[in-house]
Amino acid sequence: MSENTSKSLKKWGNFSEWFDDMLLEAQIADDRYPVKGFSVYRGWGYSIVKRIYQMLEEKLEDEGHQPMQFPVVIPEDAFQVEEDHIKGFSAEVFWITHAGENELDRRLLLRPTSETAIYPMFRIWIRSHADLPLRMHQTCNVYRYETKATRPLFRGREFLWNEAHTAHADYEEAERQVKTGVEIYRHVYDALGLSYILLKRPDFDKFPGAVYSLAFDTWNPDGKVNQIGTVHELGENFAKVFQLTYEDEEGTQKLAHTTCYGMGMGRTLAATIAHHGDDNGLVLPPVVAPKQVVIVPIPFKGKEKEVVSYAREIESKLKTAGIRVVMDDDDRLRPGEKYYKWEMFGVPVRVEVGPREADARSVTLVRRDTKEKTVARFEDLVGAIRGLFGDIYENLRTRSWERLDNELVEADTLDELKSKMNDRRIVRVSWCGDPHCAFEIKDQVAGEVRGTLWKKEEKPIGPCVVCGDTASEVAYVSRTY
Ligand SMILES: [Zn+2]
Repeated sequence: MSENTSKSLKKWGNFSEWFDDMLLEAQIADDRYPVKGFSVYRGWGYSIVKRIYQMLEEKLEDEGHQPMQFPVVIPEDAFQVEEDHIKGFSAEVFWITHAGENELDRRLLLRPTSETAIYPMFRIWIRSHADLPLRMHQTCNVYRYETKATRPLFRGREFLWNEAHTAHADYEEAERQVKTGVEIYRHVYDALGLSYILLKRPDFDKFPGAVYSLAFDTWNPDGKVNQIGTVHELGENFAKVFQLTYEDEEGTQKLAHTTCYGMGMGRTLAATIAHHGDDNGLVLPPVVAPKQVVIVPIPFKGKEKEVVSYAREIESKLKTAGIRVVMDDDDRLRPGEKYYKWEMFGVPVRVEVGPREADARSVTLVRRDTKEKTVARFEDLVGAIRGLFGDIYENLRTRSWERLDNELVEADTLDELKSKMNDRRIVRVSWCGDPHCAFEIKDQVAGEVRGTLWKKEEKPIGPCVVCGDTASEVAYVSRTY
């Protein structure tokens, strides 16, 4: 029995404690590894991550990205080529300076992101227009010496992600790729039932070296927005410094245009846990649940054999149908304790099998999200369960978007903004677009200007909330991780 059964978990009352409990109790991640900022992903957590990766990789490859794997080390000289880039990342870089006792002649760093590893190779591979577009992706770990407080899944010094890098003949093609990148990420977040706001980051907050950056921000029960993915238009900036040129049809040398995008697995997993979970534990979307169904046999004196053999029949039927199923026949636990345990793990559907079910060749099905019970006949079992998977997914997705709607509010004045930040909301304000007004907001309220909606014009409702000048944009302000 987990030690948590006597604890009452409150996702909304105390998110931080709830979340830490989830990570340990549901075996998601463990940050007791003896290097600060580095966590271990445990079995249940990593199984979910693998499924998210799989959805993402399949979609990327459908859209023409080749899977690749670049070395984790980048030589100092390649890293220092792009000036803004090095300014943005240098404070967070882990250096490798020695091999045994000997100092390396060329210092190496652990990739904080891979542009400077990938572009020197793109330069070799791209000769003519026939080599474009070039699209690749890799699933890997990156390393950043975060100075802000680390927190498992949300902010670590090693993090799991997938990054994609593309090169194109011109800006228009790169722009189309940015849209494709956005669609690929939407596809994954939608499958996870996650709501999000897609923002164009203000210039002062864009990816170092980018023309502009887009980010998927999502709500968190503690009121701090969670950035789960980013897409960057790099224009010719990186191509210039890495001399990424190609010969066009007329034989002229031209600069390529590039894009990149990255999805953080820790944060995407954190959002999945935070959006859907409840006071009884995780609630997992069936598509990523390591086990989608748990069968709990309910033994009854004299009927044990019938019940267990019927439960085995159900197990094999579900396995044959490709449903990930676990049979909990551990007789050290009572059925009620098993319910509790698998609710904690967020298994979407529980199948209860007792003597009555065995006699009638039926099953009792219990949804994790609503606890609703239904009865199905053995013949209809697979269809009934798949139907429930669909209903659970729809319910989780609807709830997540309703919550986002609920989190979004407006403020006309700085005071109002302050008070709504204290309520931990995501606040829309009219903004003149001047970075100084954004910095003023950061100084005055416990929140930051996260950006403006991408490709969706929003009319400011009044003057700039800081300076009172004419506003040109509607900015989203929130606390952040
Ligand atoms: Zn202003």
